[in-house]
Amino acid sequence: MKAATAHIDIDALRHNFSILKSYAPDSKALAVVKANGYGHGLLEVARTVNDLCDGFAVARIEEALALRSGGIVKRVLLLEGFFSPSDLPILVINNIETVVHTPTQLEALEQAELERPVSVWLKIDTGMHRLGIRPEEVADFVARLEACDNVQKPVRFITHFGCADELDSDVTARQIEAFNTLTAPYEGEHSLAASPGILLWPDSHQDWIRPGVSMYGVSPLAEKTGADFNLKPVMTLTSSLIAVRTVKQGEAVGYGANWVSERDTKIGVIAIGYGDGYPRMAPNGTPVYINGRIVPLSGRVSMDMLTVDLGPDAADQVGDEAVLWGEPLPSEIVAQHIGTIAYELVTKLTARVNMHYR
Ligand SMILES: *Cc1c(COP(=O)(O)O)cnc(C)c1O
Repeated sequence: MKAATAHIDIDALRHNFSILKSYAPDSKALAVVKANGYGHGLLEVARTVNDLCDGFAVARIEEALALRSGGIVKRVLLLEGFFSPSDLPILVINNIETVVHTPTQLEALEQAELERPVSVWLKIDTGMHRLGIRPEEVADFVARLEACDNVQKPVRFITHFGCADELDSDVTARQIEAFNTLTAPYEGEHSLAASPGILLWPDSHQDWIRPGVSMYGVSPLAEKTGADFNLKPVMTLTSSLIAVRTVKQGEAVGYGANWVSERDTKIGVIAIGYGDGYPRMAPNGTPVYINGRIVPLSGRVSMDMLTVDLGPDAADQVGDEAVLWGEPLPSEIVAQHIGTIAYELVTKLTARVNMHYR
């Protein structure tokens, strides 16, 4: 009997990557594998899409180095750039590319003594106001980067959208326009689109797309599922029923007695909890799939277990497998019940979960 297991469907991952490339057939693609490949396994994911992609993007230098020591030789980009001047020689030795989004990074590049120049993507804040240099700073940054011997020429350009999952908002169109205007004088390549840009905003495709969550079969739009875009869930999270118990009408189940049965029923206890990364804040009624049907979470999620109402006539047996999310219960649906996004669900599994690749 297996406890919490994340089944990773390698074929689905490759299928999704091909679908995303068909959305943007003229663009090159950086597969985004930060946060342990969104919880799916950094190296396993990278090796699976290595022949389909043109490179990888990560958020931390440790992730980039793990790719290199795992044998990945394609380009690797640090999406937030390097965090300290002492990282620069490491980037050179390992051929890791960096975003530059702040004067601190620019100054570090100007002052460093490096054996070879570093490949730089200048991040422009076109309206999200999280990271990036302001529009009025672009000319000065480009001039200084172009004058810097530690920087490969030409400098590339990158931006990120704040509202690309909202089709009825004009924010993204304005961000694309601002980016195009600001970068028009320069020859370096462009990258704008993460998953929602790839799926919804063709004008954002340009030279390099950066698919993350959609590669894993998850919709970047909270109200849709991957299937709406012909994507297949890559992760299916399962565990086993370890008890089937009778509960009488009026009896409460679990910590805090926060669910009281309205009828005599059977409660299934499944061996997964917040210690595995299943969110404790999941409310009563959150769907769980078992033996061909959806049953509601009933009672508070514990560290190692959760409880579902199987119904009075349930024939489920100890040892039966339950699906918490994936195939056929999309993580996007589970996330809607919990009040989060599927990005967070798949990324937050803990080390206790068995990873199974198929
Ligand atoms: C995480 C990230 C991505 C990928 O985003 P998805 O929505 O998961 O596709 C792309 N670009 C940047 C800058 C990111 O931080």
